Amino acid sequence: MATYLHFAPAIALAVAIGPRTVGWRLTLAGAFCAVLPDADFALVTLGLDRYSGPYGHRGFMHSLGFALALGAFGALWAGPGRGRQLGAAAFLALCTLSHPLLDGLIDRGICNAWWWPLDGARHCLGWRPIPMRGVGLFGAQRFQLELLWIGGPLLALANAGMLLRRLWRWARPARVPAGARRLPGAAEPGGTVRSPAPGTRWGGAGAAAAPAAARDCPRAQRQLRAEAMRAFATALRLHRHGQWREVNGAAVQP
Ligand SMILES: [Zn+2]
Repeated sequence: MATYLHFAPAIALAVAIGPRTVGWRLTLAGAFCAVLPDADFALVTLGLDRYSGPYGHRGFMHSLGFALALGAFGALWAGPGRGRQLGAAAFLALCTLSHPLLDGLIDRGICNAWWWPLDGARHCLGWRPIPMRGVGLFGAQRFQLELLWIGGPLLALANAGMLLRRLWRWARPARVPAGARRLPGAAEPGGTVRSPAPGTRWGGAGAAAAPAAARDCPRAQRQLRAEAMRAFATALRLHRHGQWREVNGAAVQP
């Protein structure tokens, strides 16, 4: 078992995915799920099974089946919405699964009953690189090794997730919520700006006519402001040339 950092994969995953998707409550629930499998010590202490039995240490609570069941159970508290429930279930299942994975990567201790309830037998991972042989269960040496072998990769995972999210935000095209009306003179999807038709209403009237969905979205708000500025500049230009007929719905003589 990892003594100190079993909770850490939940935090790293939450940071990598982002706070808009994984809130602090789900993060805390994930940290709890990531630590929970070692509660199987209690079953051994109570004499319900032997240490290496299917219900002993690293038994059914360190299995894929348990992780999936805990994820499904946790989704019941995720609130309404199928997408939200599926996301919570996947996150909690991954957090739970991180526990036997970390245990399995440590080069000491008995192996996990990965395939319970299909198979109660223990199976070791073929690769167990975390060197804990001869290291005490508690203490500074254990903590340092966990920081190096578990904390380091998790830090990299969290940073990679943040970087990918930032790249995605940078690369994706600006989206106007469905139903938002394109204002006169606004940029077309291809990036071109159409010149306005004579007599078109501009500025405040157009912005006020935008649906609430567009006004609530910060990106759409920025776009609306930019479009209003462009419209204002165009109106000024037209006014200078004596072609301005209408501003904000009020007829104006040149
Ligand atoms: Zn464990």
